[in-house]
Amino acid sequence: MSVNHARHGRAAHSRKPLVDPQGRTLDYLRVAVTDRCNLRCSYCMPAEGIKQIPHDDILTLEETHRLCSLFTELGVRKIRVTGGEPLVRKSIVPFLASLTELPARPEVLLTTNGLVLTEHLEELKAGGIRRINLSIDSLNPETWTGITRREGFEKVRSAMDLVLEMGLGLKINVVVLPGVNDHEIPDFVELTRNSPLAVRFIEPMPFDGAGKALEDTIDGKEILLRLRSRFDLTPVNQAADAVDRLFTVRGFKGTVGVIEGHSRTFCAACSRLRIDSRGRLRTCLYGAPGASLLKLIRDGGSDDDLAEAIRTEISFRFRDGKKAELAHHLVGLESMASIGG
Ligand code: SAM
Ligand code: SF4
Repeated sequence: MSVNHARHGRAAHSRKPLVDPQGRTLDYLRVAVTDRCNLRCSYCMPAEGIKQIPHDDILTLEETHRLCSLFTELGVRKIRVTGGEPLVRKSIVPFLASLTELPARPEVLLTTNGLVLTEHLEELKAGGIRRINLSIDSLNPETWTGITRREGFEKVRSAMDLVLEMGLGLKINVVVLPGVNDHEIPDFVELTRNSPLAVRFIEPMPFDGAGKALEDTIDGKEILLRLRSRFDLTPVNQAADAVDRLFTVRGFKGTVGVIEGHSRTFCAACSRLRIDSRGRLRTCLYGAPGASLLKLIRDGGSDDDLAEAIRTEISFRFRDGKKAELAHHLVGLESMASIGG
């Protein structure tokens, strides 16, 4: 993308919010700080032969901080740090804390597979992280190992309990895989009986880096039918841009929800932007990567240049994920770990 350097001379970049052609305000940024991971979830990446992004092609944490700071000046109020597995990146915990101290005081959130979470929890809490999203696809050690192709179930399970004991908010992400873990849906719901956590069941999406993720799949409607057949669900009022359809089960402390990430039922209210692990701006999970913010920074771009590139990219944002997918023929060949789930 070319940047109009003739505008360098103007005062600070406009602080107007980021609004796309459909009038959606984009105030939620998800940043993939690495494509590396200590697990190998079958729906996210192949078991072998993963091509890792060279370190030099990944934003440094200083560069990421600069971008997050700029995005908050442009109206972003919520920043989720994801990956790959964010906790395998060196110095990530102080980095997260530094984001909470940005002048706009954004809400800073972390999505993690929980494998090394326990050792970081105290520091995360002290650094201002109030909520954790933890991905765990099975409560059965063998099934979990089968999905993740690695050992460590007990570490994840105990990290989950510790998050609650420490009084942090907890959302659990479960990708529902037919014939693998779908029979565990009621067991996950049971977790919400006595604990104020949210369990969200996610439709598998086509981002396994091999184009095979949806060979056997399940949609949100079917997940909801199964939930309703066992539990008395009441819808929960949510923010207009929430992607999960949340419910409470009568008498339970927590909530359960469904994320229709493949059916894409929530696009009309989507407020998300992504920076992928190569430092590219993505205005839709299903769309092609856009402006390389990494390149712009390393070419000496000013904040004005970056803001202009960001606004230009947003001006091309598709109406919904289905339209974005039609225009992007490589969907499925990228791993969620490099896009940032
Ligand atoms: N490693 C961290 C984790 O697993 O939580 C953060 C990155 S991971 C890419 C973020 C989320 O994306 C996880 O909840 C994961 O289950 C989900 N995810 C990854 N690949 C997916 C796929 N193909 N379909 C649906 N969800 C996926
Ligand atoms: Fe790693 Fe998360 Fe992808 Fe699993 S879903 S392989 S934990 S990045």
